[in-house]
Amino acid sequence: MPDRSGPVGRRVGVFGGAFDPPHVAHRALAEVALRQLALDELRIVPTGQAWHKARALTDADQRVAMCRLAFADLPGVRVDTREIERAGPSYTVDTLTALRAEQSGAAQFLVVGADQWLAFRTWHRWAEILRLATVAVANRPLEDGGGALPDLGRVGLPHVVLAVPPLAVSATAVRERWWDPVAGPAVRALVSPAVARYISEHRLYASAAGPATPHPEHP
Ligand code: ATP
Repeated sequence: MPDRSGPVGRRVGVFGGAFDPPHVAHRALAEVALRQLALDELRIVPTGQAWHKARALTDADQRVAMCRLAFADLPGVRVDTREIERAGPSYTVDTLTALRAEQSGAAQFLVVGADQWLAFRTWHRWAEILRLATVAVANRPLEDGGGALPDLGRVGLPHVVLAVPPLAVSATAVRERWWDPVAGPAVRALVSPAVARYISEHRLYASAAGPATPHPEHP
């Protein structure tokens, strides 16, 4: 039996994201990564505010609370708040470097979805990331690809593929449709019951569908 008590021989996964909110596809990735990569531990790492420039994220405390609700029951999973606590932009390379220092000798795995993998060469110090961790990629249908699955090989960098069935689920769709009287019930089923209660009780995403102002051409 290998000795897994110390860091040597340990296998640690890092799964970062906005998790705004955590949904069933995140949960599927976590479960498959734990099993397929034989991880001793999987760190769920919610990103800080600076990471996502396109829109303001839900409060970090609320995203952390939802991550705890979404993943708490999975053995080996830990919600790691270091990127939220770090001042300034939070980079994956810094997280992997810090974890390596804490657990020297452990093998590190970085879990990402296809959209992130296809943009990987734009990541801060991406070559260093490949030295620090094995990237494990879950394919997902891309909206701008007409819903087709992208070719993960076109990135031209080493990776392993996670055996997750393609899931056309995104946090954007959950946020935008949560309060919609017609589409709401279907997207509310894409998060765990505890996360669904949290979103409704805190009235998150109430303005995500956009302001109900008339279109200038079709008032
Ligand atoms: P948003 O719609 O707000 O961009 P998202 O659904 O992509 O959010 P994130 O929190 O940004 O969720 O994703 C965290 C990680 O999970 C990323 O690596 C992302 O690629 C991956 N991921 C999210 N949804 C899926 C999915 N349906 N299939 C595979 N990977 C996914």
